[in-house]
Amino acid sequence: MGLKTYEEYIESLRKLKPQHYIRGKKIHPLDDPELRMAADTVGFTYKAAFMDEYKDLFRTRSDLTGEEINVFTHIPKNTDEMYNWCKVMRISTAEAGCILRCVTNDLLRSIYVTTYEMDKKYGTDYHQRFREYLRYYQKEDLYGITGMTDAGGTRALPPGKQPDPDAFVRVVEKRSDGIVIRGAKGPVAIAPCHEIIVVPTRGLREGESDYAVVCAVPADAPGVKIVVRPRAVDPSPPINLKTSASEGMVFLDDVFVPWDRVFMCGEYDFAYRLVDLFTIFHRHTCGAACKRGFYDLLCGALICAAEANGLDPFRVGHIRDKLIDLFALGETSWAHAVAAVYEGYVTEPGVFIPAPIHANLAKLHQTRTVQEAYRILMDVASGMPVSVPTYEDYENPELKSYVEKYLKRNPEMPTEYTLKIIWLIENLLLSPWAARNLILAVHGGGHDQASRVMFLRHVDWDRLKKLALRRANISA
Ligand SMILES: Cc1cc2nc3c(=O)[nH]c(=O)nc-3n(C[C@H](O)[C@H](O)[C@H](O)COP(=O)(O)OP(=O)(O)OC[C@H]3O[C@@H](n4cnc5c(N)ncnc54)[C@H](O)[C@@H]3O)c2cc1C
Repeated sequence: MGLKTYEEYIESLRKLKPQHYIRGKKIHPLDDPELRMAADTVGFTYKAAFMDEYKDLFRTRSDLTGEEINVFTHIPKNTDEMYNWCKVMRISTAEAGCILRCVTNDLLRSIYVTTYEMDKKYGTDYHQRFREYLRYYQKEDLYGITGMTDAGGTRALPPGKQPDPDAFVRVVEKRSDGIVIRGAKGPVAIAPCHEIIVVPTRGLREGESDYAVVCAVPADAPGVKIVVRPRAVDPSPPINLKTSASEGMVFLDDVFVPWDRVFMCGEYDFAYRLVDLFTIFHRHTCGAACKRGFYDLLCGALICAAEANGLDPFRVGHIRDKLIDLFALGETSWAHAVAAVYEGYVTEPGVFIPAPIHANLAKLHQTRTVQEAYRILMDVASGMPVSVPTYEDYENPELKSYVEKYLKRNPEMPTEYTLKIIWLIENLLLSPWAARNLILAVHGGGHDQASRVMFLRHVDWDRLKKLALRRANISA
């Protein structure tokens, strides 16, 4: 198959029977309206592969199956494919919101490289196993979630020294037919999904080999409990920003995983390599390319808000300046996305690695600028997004005439136009989804300090020092 339609994706989720909890109740994820919105957000990636406008970007050919596949299951192998991925991310965020499916593409790439390198060192067969799994993943056009972040226990101690050994996911039993794992993952982005890919969250030391586990678990495998907190926009106004991002925790209560789904088991010295690669990939995807799409939408909203308020955004000096400031934030993200592609390189197993410095700079940039972007839009949009009557109020005949009269701003625009713009901005800035995006900018892809540490690893500081010494005419 290789490509699922949106309808086939929803149907395939419906067939699963995950232990899914929301607000204390066990429920099929598609039966909760907010989680269903999250499924629809991911669903954009399936729809886009069949849209005339986007299908050339969202489809590619698999070198494993020979079939056309969705770009979200593909491993970019060269500059062109990586650049295409950036465009896909930009479009996805602008059109559908935080797309949620991207993170596991980043993870699949990391596992692809790490399994290859482990086999080379230890003569294991993880890479071949993983390629088989990836073939299945591509053929079925699956959506897996990324189970990297562990519950983690006290931050002062590494996995092997935690008072509770289950604070990090670990192998509790090795059997002839597979392994049994225990622990919890979270925070994790969780829209209704087919698979959970479990990987270590940090580098590991000798004595911590039980924590060195990479495997793929079906979302409805026995022992898996998924507890989700969806954060949606207000779905009631008749606007097209209908999106929800859901995060939560995955409890793995002695879950059996057959060997053909195990891609690391005990090789603790490769945990850091996997995490390092993932953070480069994800900071590039989420910190750089995706943010351009988000800022594109915020810029458009700013223009519309000024016009709805009766002000020309290109003639009123301070609004024009604010628009340019906002635009520059997005373009800086994009500059990192593109620079990372053109300064990236291809690894031995053939996976493209975006330049680590730009990926991490993009992450630091977004951590600091999403709040600033919100501030600029809040300034121009006025305080009305906090007070705007709801769509239901607007539709109430007792209120409609008041809303029509007092929400009219620009005499050349119908009130309903103004209302739609304010509802859009209310959702972009004030919804639970909007608040969640602020913490995503800080912690998604790792916290601030994790990015800074990467500079110590990836920058050739010695070269810079030698340059200064040479210019000072001091021999090293
Ligand atoms: C919206 C969102 C979506 C996410 N999606 C996913 C996902 O899909 N999959 C996934 O696996 N993860 C996901 N994450 C998790 C994310 O990667 C983590 O939140 C992030 O890596 C930080 O880890 P933490 O939350 O455990 O914070 P912590 O590691 O607890 O960090 C909190 C603070 O403590 C500091 N700190 C921690 N340890 C130490 C120490 N030993 N010494 C000094 N300071 C320390 C940190 O620098 C930071 O300032 C998501 C997070 C968010 C917010």
